[in-house]
Amino acid sequence: MSDGRLRTVDEHLAGVLGTVGALEPIELHLLDAQGLLLAEDVTSAFPLPSFDNSAMDGYAVRAVDTRHASDEQPVQLQVVGDIAAGAKTRSGMGPGLAMRIMTGAPLPAGADAVIPVEDTDGGVAKVAIRRPVRTGECVRRAGEDLPANAPAIRAGAALGPQQIALLAAVGRASVLVRPRPRVLVLSTGSELVELGSTPTFGEVIDSNSYLLTAAARDAGADARRVGIVVDDHAKLIDALESQLLRADVLVTTGGVSMGAYDVVKQALSELGTVEFVKVAMQPGKPQGFGHLSTSSGHRVPIFCLPGNPVSAMVSFEAFVRPAIRKLLGKRSVHRATVQATALESFSSPEGVRQYRRGVLHRERTGGYSVSLVGGPGSHLIASMAASNCLVVIDEQTTEVVAGEPTTVLPLLLSNR
Ligand code: AMP
Ligand code: MG
Repeated sequence: MSDGRLRTVDEHLAGVLGTVGALEPIELHLLDAQGLLLAEDVTSAFPLPSFDNSAMDGYAVRAVDTRHASDEQPVQLQVVGDIAAGAKTRSGMGPGLAMRIMTGAPLPAGADAVIPVEDTDGGVAKVAIRRPVRTGECVRRAGEDLPANAPAIRAGAALGPQQIALLAAVGRASVLVRPRPRVLVLSTGSELVELGSTPTFGEVIDSNSYLLTAAARDAGADARRVGIVVDDHAKLIDALESQLLRADVLVTTGGVSMGAYDVVKQALSELGTVEFVKVAMQPGKPQGFGHLSTSSGHRVPIFCLPGNPVSAMVSFEAFVRPAIRKLLGKRSVHRATVQATALESFSSPEGVRQYRRGVLHRERTGGYSVSLVGGPGSHLIASMAASNCLVVIDEQTTEVVAGEPTTVLPLLLSNR
């Protein structure tokens, strides 16, 4: 930056989020809409339940006919038929009669209550009723769950299993939702080799594209890894251009520092639409963000993250994940943080937001405690894999003393 001051994490994030908004709604099959936000108000054309029906297996009766029933002197009613769930027509019955009825079967005209089979002798031709029944007992009234033409679910609702059940119940096979952003991940680096080959001296298996594709899926994106691009200006531009039409977000790793072969920074700076900045964070200081456009005007945000695996992961958490959540239409784009008691003391440079890998423990007393795992080195993949949280040490804090509370970002698996 021109004034020499590093950009803060919050400033960089605000810049990113200021340029992305929820994607245009699309129609998806109900089960493909799971986890997404509804983009229409859904009303039901018919009531739920759609007809008066029995809540129990028992006998449909008129409550008034059972008024004097008791264990000692049961009331005897003649059983004039059976009604099963799925009966296509409405039966009818007169005073002093009963019909055997199953759960979910339509209540016959003339009946106003159901006596559960347990409170009778279970008779077939005649039934002995052993207690009085209240009017409306064991009857599910049409519309008591949802009246016809009432709003069932409003736009903006997140579709979990319960909401999907209601949409199915009101007859919606497909719904309008905010789609999953299509995130494409490219790794850059001439030292990188594909998973499946055995690295020889100087070679490194590309793990970042797996890390970031998995992280993007966990954040709710429809993410794919494109693969590896060598440190070559023309090849990088070609690779990006060939993916543009398929993407809502592009993510690259590597090549954004000060090295002689940091081609991502060199090649994309020239376009003038991607900015490379230094952010006051550790790890993750060099960050690139901007947009690439197709000739047809499709504009795609691109994140150019540093190549060290821990830097890539922390950068994703800080900037890409909130952007994906915003594209999904989520109102809350940030993970929840918790306060945890530090189990050890550690220090952090002033003016920098430091993210350390940690293990968060749930105490028997109900609170949390946290210990660090691995050092601050941003190449430490094994300790990253052993962590379940990031310990976030803000810009003002230089010392965290054992026993004091500290801010932790639990990295819970979403399972979408
Ligand atoms: P760079 O940001 O390109 O300077 O890379 C920094 C470090 O991260 C180097 O040690 C790279 O070998 C390593 N690195 C870069 N990209 C990847 C990747 N896709 N997978 C694993 N390590 C990587
Ligand atoms: Mg590199």
